[in-house]
Amino acid sequence: MNSLQKFYIKCPVCDAILSGKIHESLGINCTELYSDGKMICDELLSEPQLIVQCPSCSHIFWKDETTSVAVSGHITNERANKVAIYPYSSWYLFGANPNRSQGKIALIQHFTQLLTYLRPLNSKQEIYLRKSLLWAYNDLIRRNYSFTFLDFLKGKISYGTWRHERNHRLIESFYFLKYTQSYKSNIKRIIDILRSAQDKEVDKVYLAELYRLKGNFDKAVEILNELKRSTHYVTMIRSKALKRNSTVFKVAG
Ligand SMILES: [Zn+2]
Repeated sequence: MNSLQKFYIKCPVCDAILSGKIHESLGINCTELYSDGKMICDELLSEPQLIVQCPSCSHIFWKDETTSVAVSGHITNERANKVAIYPYSSWYLFGANPNRSQGKIALIQHFTQLLTYLRPLNSKQEIYLRKSLLWAYNDLIRRNYSFTFLDFLKGKISYGTWRHERNHRLIESFYFLKYTQSYKSNIKRIIDILRSAQDKEVDKVYLAELYRLKGNFDKAVEILNELKRSTHYVTMIRSKALKRNSTVFKVAG
């Protein structure tokens, strides 16, 4: 069952029409959930992309009511005959492939630049950009590789394939270490914004996880200890924090 619905947006500068896909609440198939909040559903990020770089004129804009185009078969057919409609792949994740090292680095650079140049930002926009940046950094060490050394031992893959995968891991881990300082200051800023939010309905578990990712293990455990009930996610964060482990992990999938 296809749980994705098509939508259209319009670039406010050049009027180019861009098509996109969004999850429908029914029939959604989420396959991966990570501790930093990243979730993959039907091969797309669970959260819709809020910022767009127009594939036609490169203008960067926030996706909101003013940029949406009413879905109508008549309009789309008419437009399709006259104007090119840019596919989702041309602007989703700014055209970067998050499964390749270069794509991961490109995404990190992209979100870093957006945070520098897009001013002013309201707290919702800044949280969106900083969470996207956090996921992009963690993508460098997110263990979603298809093959392991065990697969090589079992004869499932050749030595060459295993070595190729291993080299990729080493390069990506190297980049992750290189970004340590900006990775941590990004998390610190997310924590600051969440803590200063007007509504006190801050997700305590997520806050604890942010502290753990940043390496503040005692603070993470302290917050978890204040919780009235525990879940599988809470137990996992606590166990990693007590082991002084700050890496992102897979919660489900
Ligand atoms: Zn444009």
